[in-house]
Amino acid sequence: MALAANPTRRPLFRLITVAASSLGSFILGLWGLQFGFGDAASGLSAEAIGSVVAGLCALAAGGSAASFFAGVDESASYVYSETNFDKLTGLLGRAALVGKVAEAASAAVRTGEPVFLVDIDIDRFKQINDSIGYSQGDDLIRAFTARLRAALPGGVTLGRIGAGEFAVIVPDRLAGDRLIPMVESLIEKMIEPYQLKTHLQTVNLSIGIVAMPKDGTDPVQILRRSNLALQNARAGGVGGWAIFESEMGKVADYRQWIEAELHTAFQRGDFRLFYQPQFDLSDGRTVGYEALIRWQHPVRGVIPPMEFIQVAEETGMIAPIGEWVLRQACADLALLPRDCFVAVNISPVQFMTRDFLEVVSDAIQTSKIDPRRLELEITESAMMQDRDYAASLLRQLSDMGLSVAVDDFGTGYSNLSYLIDFPFHKLKIDRSFVSRMEVDASSGAVVSTIVGLSKALGVKTIAEGVETPNQAILLRAAGCQEVQGFLYGRPEPLAANSDVRRVA
Ligand code: C2E
Ligand code: MG
Ligand code: MG
Repeated sequence: MALAANPTRRPLFRLITVAASSLGSFILGLWGLQFGFGDAASGLSAEAIGSVVAGLCALAAGGSAASFFAGVDESASYVYSETNFDKLTGLLGRAALVGKVAEAASAAVRTGEPVFLVDIDIDRFKQINDSIGYSQGDDLIRAFTARLRAALPGGVTLGRIGAGEFAVIVPDRLAGDRLIPMVESLIEKMIEPYQLKTHLQTVNLSIGIVAMPKDGTDPVQILRRSNLALQNARAGGVGGWAIFESEMGKVADYRQWIEAELHTAFQRGDFRLFYQPQFDLSDGRTVGYEALIRWQHPVRGVIPPMEFIQVAEETGMIAPIGEWVLRQACADLALLPRDCFVAVNISPVQFMTRDFLEVVSDAIQTSKIDPRRLELEITESAMMQDRDYAASLLRQLSDMGLSVAVDDFGTGYSNLSYLIDFPFHKLKIDRSFVSRMEVDASSGAVVSTIVGLSKALGVKTIAEGVETPNQAILLRAAGCQEVQGFLYGRPEPLAANSDVRRVA
């Protein structure tokens, strides 16, 4: 693996430079002496002084020349490492890696042996960096690099090509049919938490893989394609990898369109909130409504949140959109029955923004709602980014009177110890367990275990995605208290809901 040396001027050449310039000054001094006081003052003949001065001149000139050329050499190597290596990690920088990809591609064409480019990106690195601070962000990148180096076999070429993005060139002789197991074991090693100064940092990865020359030989295109594969892996879920396929270009174009359009959409007021009721299983009463965002695009029609929330998170647009959702849901609460709460989804990125608490408390004050009627749905991954900070946020939200539900429970973090440290009020059993309950006994067992766990912790359970009466029966038997799903009501605009009409 290529590494950059720290470029400094060597002591020998520093010495030559100093000696040569001192000698130059000395000669000038002598010259001045002769010029000012005449030959008699020096006590030497004019010829003798002339030869000494000429000799010293030659020595100074030689020293200066040696120092100059050494300087040029050193400057060249300094410029080389400045432009080719990444300062923070010492790995190849983007430009140099593009060069290596070009070399690898032409070698692959020449020898007929494929070479792979593996593009590794830390999910939401920008947001992690913003929330933990740049100094700890740098520490994280250094620790990540060290682990990456240790995890990769010798003989690969490694570079850092973006803030949280790395690329590895793997020749076929190292990969063979072991590339995928290698990538999977790499993911496993790299997502182990990193000990930073103040906390344990968890990261997720997405990986894109491209084969040269099959997927191209132009290095810029290769890197674009590995990134497309990576985006595809990311869309598929946490800690995923994907191999490039030509279809992926279309997905990328759509994503780019979303990214370009989001800001305008927000300013144009395209967003709407739909509400889906939540029921108490014991008496069938509506207890609350989950606010679900919809993008009503003037040309394309309704765009579901799964297609734009992640882009909003990556581009920072989630902050204004999330704030709008909170304020709108608080305002809409006035139209909901008095004994109902509103549940608002909070993105992990929004949760970790520094002014999150102020935004929540301002939304409550402006709309003059009872904070006990506001529930925040937060996923496990949101709480895991910085556990201490998340725990303190949850405590403050609790103190303000809000309730917190852990959304998509059971799909994220496997270490359940956080349930003890974090104050929350409800576990929301993920739809994936509910939908399999009827056909798969182990899903039923998982649901019963979650209900048992929540009882032990003294919190409620709600099951989401309930679609059939049979699922409802099984959930009731498992002891689940609340339900939400198409069986009871789809997400609808506020005015379309019968309970709301009665009140409004
Ligand atoms: P979620 O919070 O887990 O929301 C539940 C999703 O399941 C909703 O999809 C809902 O329409 C859908 N759903 C409800 N009942 C059923 C059912 O019986 N069967 C099936 N198949 N689906 C059901 P939706 O509205 O497309 O939202 C998807 C995700 O987008 C949400 O998952 C949430 O993570 C995110 N989201 C939605 N609105 C917001 C928002 O305002 N802010 C943020 N940050 N995320 C949001
Ligand atoms: Mg939710
Ligand atoms: Mg959910």
